[in-house]
Amino acid sequence: MLKSIATVSLAGTLPEKLEAAATIGFDGVEIFENDLLTFEGTPKDISDLANSLGLAITCFQPFRDFEAMPEPQRTRNFDRAERKFDVMQALGTDLLLVCSNVSAAAIDDDARAAADFHALAERAARRGLRIGYEALAWGRHVNRWRHAHKIVEAADHPNLGLIVDSFHTLCLDDDPAGMPTDKIFFVQLADAPRLSMDVLSWSRHFRNFPGQGQLPVAGFLREVLKAGYTGPISLEIFNDEFRAAPARLMARDGLRSLLLVEAEAGATTLPPPQLFDGVEFLEFAVDDEQGRRLGETLRGLGFHYAGRHRSKSVDLFRQGRVNLILNSEPDSAASEHFQFHGASVCAMALRVNDVASAVARATALLCPEWHERIGAGERNIPAVRAPDGTLVYLVQPDPDGRTIYDDDFVLFPDDAPAPLVTSVDHVAQALPTGRMDNFVLFYHAVFGFSPDQLWEIPDPYGLVRSRTVVSADQTVRLPLNVSESRETATGRFLTTYAGAGGQHIALATDDILHAVDQAAARGARMLTIPANYYEDIGAKWGLSDERLDELRRHNVLYDQDDSGAFLHAYTDTFDGRFFFEYVQRIGGYRQYGAANAAVRMAAQAQQR
Ligand code: MG
Ligand code: MG
Repeated sequence: MLKSIATVSLAGTLPEKLEAAATIGFDGVEIFENDLLTFEGTPKDISDLANSLGLAITCFQPFRDFEAMPEPQRTRNFDRAERKFDVMQALGTDLLLVCSNVSAAAIDDDARAAADFHALAERAARRGLRIGYEALAWGRHVNRWRHAHKIVEAADHPNLGLIVDSFHTLCLDDDPAGMPTDKIFFVQLADAPRLSMDVLSWSRHFRNFPGQGQLPVAGFLREVLKAGYTGPISLEIFNDEFRAAPARLMARDGLRSLLLVEAEAGATTLPPPQLFDGVEFLEFAVDDEQGRRLGETLRGLGFHYAGRHRSKSVDLFRQGRVNLILNSEPDSAASEHFQFHGASVCAMALRVNDVASAVARATALLCPEWHERIGAGERNIPAVRAPDGTLVYLVQPDPDGRTIYDDDFVLFPDDAPAPLVTSVDHVAQALPTGRMDNFVLFYHAVFGFSPDQLWEIPDPYGLVRSRTVVSADQTVRLPLNVSESRETATGRFLTTYAGAGGQHIALATDDILHAVDQAAARGARMLTIPANYYEDIGAKWGLSDERLDELRRHNVLYDQDDSGAFLHAYTDTFDGRFFFEYVQRIGGYRQYGAANAAVRMAAQAQQR
């Protein structure tokens, strides 16, 4: 289907918006009148620019408070419409969006509305133009598509049709089933998080791209397709953060979301998401000095030094199924990352059953394969780049059991101590302000991970918002954190680190008390939890004094839900940058101890 975006969805001047949309690959744009009013040139200039960029102008909007008005507004509205028609002809678009009247003066009379629309469509027809009527969720008398359609049918004019918008339908929990087969002129798509607030504010500030929110947008599009609609699908997103972000970044997210929703609605096919099986390795960018210190920290946590890269200054630390790579190779992507960010996670590898299909899906969703420079005899590991530029490698286990480490590393004879941990439980990332939706869409679309609910966590110095994306079988879990404040743990991480990235790495253990004891014996520094915390959870969960004492002595935090319990303990922060966590899941507990995050952040703040 032809893919379009409303200029209101993007930041910048009108020419910048058009250039961004065209560069990323949109076929058309809806021109918002406001963008035109603040533009220096003429509508003809915009038409010429759109032509030169290969963009269709799919619609001009909005025309407000038109139908069923008393005189003298009624006559004035027709004059106003003629002036919009002039602009449309200069722009080279034939479709005007008229949204349902919100004026207090509007008369509650469908017959009058229909008569007005018939007259307007007649005037439009004389110029070869068309009128699309959209029910706003907060329209004075008309706020559902069925009602708007009734009026369109009564007006009965070939140049008059319906414009449907997923937000207006879904925010009222209205049913999109049974749309008319011959009268849909245009389709707008927007998602949104579920919020309880008035629909107008919800719509004006919190819309987002399909796949980023919680509305069943694909189901809506499926109904539109069932009605035989073959016209453009257009993103109309009012969102304060989107309008503050770079236009091309938003345009790419927008196009990615349309490609995804189109496939989800059954109009196209994408290579399906593959089966993921946890984190294969995490790679840290370090220099020699930091690498030595991080190596010490890792030994304290139960890792052993397992190998040295055949040709590079790269070390492998292992424990259970966890592989951590410390890369201090000069003139590499890792060293570039280190120059920018200091010691930090620069890449993550995920195990996946079919790398070729995973890369094909990523490519189809505008995330092409990234080729890293490799040395002779090294394995080329396919990778894509996450929105912050860090690499996500995709590793397909060899049927014969040979690993990437066998190929690229000189492995030391295995004298590993018994592991304290089994695998990576989750990797939390700190994101720049305003980028939550961007990252959620990337993981959701490209890898098929599902976003969990949004948590808001109080840090002593501000609020942290957290949303986790998880693979289908829960083996990959990535909590994404954003903070408006620079003073929260997340905010400080971003400042120290100059960008987004892995903020903490949680390691799964079957016996956290043992792991903490062993780590202490090896000199690992764990985060001290205030005694008051234990008073609180003792009362909250009815834990025995013995149990509480055990948790307190080990600085282990406790949470519980309907299906199980969660024990976790944190290390001190490495250079104020990132930290590790031991976690033990008991029963079917599926969360991340968000209830304790405030305590953790306060303890970290205390430590600073
Ligand atoms: Mg709309
Ligand atoms: Mg955690």
